[in-house]
Amino acid sequence: MLNNPQTEAGIGMTSARTRDRLIDRLKQQGIRSPQVLDVIRDTPRHLFIEEAMAHKAYEDTALPIGFDQTISQPYIVARMTELLLEGGPLRTVLEVGTGSGYQTAVLAELVDRVFSVERIGALHHRAKGVLQKVGLNNVSLRHTDGNGGWPTTMKFDAIIVTAASPSFPKSLTQQLAADGVLVIPVEQNGEQALCRVRRTESGFSQELIEPVCFVPMLKGVIE
Ligand code: SAH
Repeated sequence: MLNNPQTEAGIGMTSARTRDRLIDRLKQQGIRSPQVLDVIRDTPRHLFIEEAMAHKAYEDTALPIGFDQTISQPYIVARMTELLLEGGPLRTVLEVGTGSGYQTAVLAELVDRVFSVERIGALHHRAKGVLQKVGLNNVSLRHTDGNGGWPTTMKFDAIIVTAASPSFPKSLTQQLAADGVLVIPVEQNGEQALCRVRRTESGFSQELIEPVCFVPMLKGVIE
């Protein structure tokens, strides 16, 4: 469960009313899962961004988190989370692109254990601090290049990629358990589309979900 500190950023901009307005908007945009909506309402998004921007935390927009990266828009966090959970409860989820740690926190409230990798050291360390502060201890974070998956032979019930990739990285599809699902933005000819891939008995099935706009998935790690 989340510690939900009544916090630093002040009551007005983080109030129940402000959060309810965001939830209404997500419902209008087609988010249906009560579970997902409840978790988005209860997750203190203002703690995952710089204080100077906290007044925008419950607007439905992506926001800068430094290093040319962004915290994802709440709608897209909700949508991807719904897409992961549609097949039933999940034990283990791998996230590629920890970024601020916000999507990680939302997942950690809904599944047994979240593993998340980030290539930028400073973001990895910051996210680790925030996730500890909010009291989520079913999360394991690594500073590594997610193109290689999680650095073990472990298989995951689901994998979520929060940066756009030109293809489905093989090391990720190989880390999907039987019936496992991968949600990933794929970029081709300058256009990005959210895709869901399911591991079936005979191979993989693929669904195109909707157009999206993510920062690119890059290679290598930086401090
Ligand atoms: N889920 C995050 C989204 C952050 S933006 C949030 O809501 O805050 C995408 C993140 O993916 C960035 O932090 C970027 O550094 C990271 N990323 C890009 N390529 C990566 C790679 N190959 N391995 C791990 N992380 C990567």
